Amino acid sequence: TVATIGSSLIPVINKLHDILASSGTELSDISVPQVAVVGSQSSGKSSVLEALVGRDFLPRGCDICTRRPLALMLENRSPNSDDDRIEWGEFRHLPGRRFYDFSQIRREIQAETEREAGCNKGVSEKQIRLKISSPNVLNMTLIDLPGITKVPVGDQPSDIEARIRRMIMAHINNENCIILAVSPANSDLATSDALQIAKLADPTGSRTVGVITKLDIMDRGTDACNFLLGKVVPLKHGYVGVVNRCQEDINKNRSIQEALAYEEQFFHDHPVYNSVSNHCGIPQLAKKLNQILEQHIRKDLPRLKAVLNSRMHAAMKELQTYGDVVESKAEQGAALLHILRRYCDDFSAMVDGKSPDMSTK
Ligand code: GDP
Ligand code: MG
Repeated sequence: TVATIGSSLIPVINKLHDILASSGTELSDISVPQVAVVGSQSSGKSSVLEALVGRDFLPRGCDICTRRPLALMLENRSPNSDDDRIEWGEFRHLPGRRFYDFSQIRREIQAETEREAGCNKGVSEKQIRLKISSPNVLNMTLIDLPGITKVPVGDQPSDIEARIRRMIMAHINNENCIILAVSPANSDLATSDALQIAKLADPTGSRTVGVITKLDIMDRGTDACNFLLGKVVPLKHGYVGVVNRCQEDINKNRSIQEALAYEEQFFHDHPVYNSVSNHCGIPQLAKKLNQILEQHIRKDLPRLKAVLNSRMHAAMKELQTYGDVVESKAEQGAALLHILRRYCDDFSAMVDGKSPDMSTK
């Protein structure tokens, strides 16, 4: 099975969905959390997001691939709806067209990137918005962002670094945003761009999760254990180390499932990482995110309860305006007689010119 964020929460959310639907409340009344990935270029941000979603659809590679922010709006569709099990994507810029083929989604992301940011490594802050509707996702927004880069290449302006930093900050300054700070293990972790920028937006580290990628290609004889244990740069939510697909895997179309199996084996066989297994692997990262998301939903429940209470109050009030409930045949007859008598009285009054119109009360 594929590790997806929210997998343990989805049944609960679906139940909540059904309960709320019967009261006319949308699940979208729950504030939707965001998860954004930050880090330097080619650190593995898109790879991490893809592995978490469990589907192949993001442009990835050793060059700059993510050149516009991509807001991926995951929308939980109740499994009781007719087109069960079908997952589809719909772009904001192509309304009404459903993509069922995820490799076509990737092609459209690339094409739409080029429409706005050109074909020569240009970058644009204009978001691409993609909705994924599925019974297998939790309502949330994942944001894939361009990586921090220092030296302008291609059509990039001379202030490319400042531009990308501004773009990232605009997304992660949101208090509702969980930050995945992605640092590759084959570069100096202590000077990680990801941790540095995450700290600017979240100084107390209350919504930042550290992710260390590329544990498979560290310098031989070194490992990231101290880092994973938070001994170098402590983080409240800690770190998870992962192994995603390398470029060769991508070129050979290796699937996410295969990659997850390889990752599991890698950590299992490793002399150091197998003793810190709760800090290793995409499933662990998904679990950590689940815990944070659960806290988020839990925090939102009192507000949701207040919405439901006030709606119930309004319904009760409306009900009262309809008068008392009459149950038996005799009572109904009496009530009808009463209305008729009032009608006759009002009618006579009108005929006698005492009243300008007939009251219906
Ligand atoms: P981004 O620029 O941060 O979004 O990075 P990508 O996800 O596009 O990945 C950049 C390159 O690094 C790609 O060629 C990936 O195949 C490779 N890559 C990502 N994660 C890993 C990893 O854990 N191990 C290895 N060996 N390669 C990785
Ligand atoms: Mg990317």
